[in-house]
Amino acid sequence: MGCLKALLCDGGQIRLADVATPVPSPGDVLIRVTMAGICNTDLEVTAGYRPFTGILGHEFVGMVESDPLGELTGKRVVGSINVYCGECPYCRRGETSHCLERTAIGINGRDGAFAEFLALPRPNVHVVPAGLGDIEAVLVEPLAAGMRVVEQVHIQPGHSVAVLGDGKLGLLSARVLSATGSNVVVVGKHGHKLSLARSMGLRTAAVDDFTGPADVVLDCTGSVSGLETAVRLVRSGGTIVLKTTVAGKYKIDLSPIVVREIRIVGSRCGPFAPTLALLERHNLDLAGVVEAVYPLDRGVEAFEHARRKGALKILLSI
Ligand SMILES: [Zn+2]
Ligand SMILES: [Zn+2]
Repeated sequence: MGCLKALLCDGGQIRLADVATPVPSPGDVLIRVTMAGICNTDLEVTAGYRPFTGILGHEFVGMVESDPLGELTGKRVVGSINVYCGECPYCRRGETSHCLERTAIGINGRDGAFAEFLALPRPNVHVVPAGLGDIEAVLVEPLAAGMRVVEQVHIQPGHSVAVLGDGKLGLLSARVLSATGSNVVVVGKHGHKLSLARSMGLRTAAVDDFTGPADVVLDCTGSVSGLETAVRLVRSGGTIVLKTTVAGKYKIDLSPIVVREIRIVGSRCGPFAPTLALLERHNLDLAGVVEAVYPLDRGVEAFEHARRKGALKILLSI
């Protein structure tokens, strides 16, 4: 197929390189990527958050080029990022995202989606409903991370949920939780992002004005100071959900968590199928979250843009 382009991460450097078409392992589906999203995790990987050499990218939509069973060929698909063994104790319990042999596309031990082609095991591949646009499809991965909260925390009718942080993850998580029926408020400190949140139909508050207390607080701040703010805003007996992975170390007094009986829940990747179903039922009006779209061959520039302080979602069209 001649020479193909991809965005490689190599010793913390990102560069456009020529690559060969991936040879799918038995059972893998070969996908022609059409659009991909740059996520904070990609920026952290290039900043040395974890050692990774290979093609970056884990948020994508594409068309199936070949499927060993045939039936997915030609279908528009997205893919969940954690590739699992199916045999370890976690996999046998159905907790495949904690597989002991886990790899993750574009993050850990496996090439990712900032390329023309991507090979992915069949169970990771999900068909996109016809009514959804590519922008909604490419955002399924971060939206699913918001959906994960509903799996982990029983949010009762009437409960209040404060989403702390008005960046990409906060806005997308808030949108998912409000679509599932939660009473959500986005608590942030950037006027233009809070007004974007309001244009998406979300309630907002400035962090300096908001006193809560909320039944559930999601920390989507991406900062070590977020947890302390979350402790201040959650009600006694309430739940804090930590969504951000931060490279820094926490220094926090844990006694309020004991005395006020606050639950802290770590939360990572979420389920694709219910997220796609939610997107099909509700128009989440997500276009405002996308700040720019770059062609793949300007990928290095796209990364520079994504690193700008306060940048929203940057997409690559491939
Ligand atoms: Zn991501
Ligand atoms: Zn496993």
